[in-house]
Amino acid sequence: MRAAVLEEHGEPLSIEDVDAPEPAPTGAVVELEACGVCRSDWHGWQGDWGWLGLETQPGQILGHEPAGHVVAVGDEVENVAEGDHVAVPFNLGDGTCPRCQRGRSNICENVMPLGFIEQAQGAFAEQVHVPVADHNLVELPDGVSSVDMAGLGCRFMTSFHALAHRADVGAGDWVSIHGCGGVGLSAVHIADALGANVVAVDLKDEKLEKAESLGAVETINADDVGDVPGEVSAITDGGAHVSMDALGIATTSQNSVSSLDARGQHIQVGLTTQDEQGMISLPSDAMVMQEIEFIGSLGMPPTRYDEIFRMVSTGKLEPEKVVSETIGLEDVSDKLESMTDFETVGIPVIDEF
Ligand SMILES: [Zn+2]
Ligand SMILES: [Zn+2]
Repeated sequence: MRAAVLEEHGEPLSIEDVDAPEPAPTGAVVELEACGVCRSDWHGWQGDWGWLGLETQPGQILGHEPAGHVVAVGDEVENVAEGDHVAVPFNLGDGTCPRCQRGRSNICENVMPLGFIEQAQGAFAEQVHVPVADHNLVELPDGVSSVDMAGLGCRFMTSFHALAHRADVGAGDWVSIHGCGGVGLSAVHIADALGANVVAVDLKDEKLEKAESLGAVETINADDVGDVPGEVSAITDGGAHVSMDALGIATTSQNSVSSLDARGQHIQVGLTTQDEQGMISLPSDAMVMQEIEFIGSLGMPPTRYDEIFRMVSTGKLEPEKVVSETIGLEDVSDKLESMTDFETVGIPVIDEF
């Protein structure tokens, strides 16, 4: 099968013929119809996240936002069958550890991040293997296309979990979203659907216009204002109730925390770059004095996708609106390159493999 293989960090991926995966006894093979290209792929391509034990090695196939049809299942798989139309959450769980048993497999003790480790080769390929398929695969509702749902394996569900499960977003709350890439734009749309007033922050007007079209009531171009938290505070008359760093750099994380009103909740979704290496300094005294919460949020457990699907079926959520373009497998390297300068808008999705 064709696959885009990492040879060297920061260099174009190599389009190669590699062996197609065989299903493990509890695994399944999914024939790809769509796979988003994400900033997390960019991090993997750069060789980031060694501080998390996730530095990609040569030979790795990246790609962690797949949707497609199941073409093979292992002998021990019970609930998944050939032909099922599925999305694959990137944070694969083992299904058996105490956290998985409690419905928190997004933070499984043996989590397998798709496309980052040798045992979980990714989806920039014609087919992808999904371990523990009964536990990890999410069946898509009828009538939705794989391309429209490509963000569901990563950015869309990550934002949903962060806003709907981890933070307390209520009707009329001010929510500020710092960084309007795929996660940030998804968050704008979801927070709007949850009844919040959304303030979107980015450096690029094009992304802010997209944020407005997805429901942001106010936007801030951080290049145009010296003091982003001050601007959020002015717009919201005292600060946001919930704020998200959807990027993972020190500036956006600190701006997000400082944008909050007293008792506000900051959600950290973005993972950091080589500059921060997992460590960001925060205004801890102000956080104590104002009783600010700092919340980490990773992916979403597959058991909670029904909540998204109910909102998709009634038109309250439209994940396809965040999908910006479709590309071929050989275009992925260019897309990753353009992410270095934050030039992609929305979610680019591979639909030709
Ligand atoms: Zn992703
Ligand atoms: Zn587990």
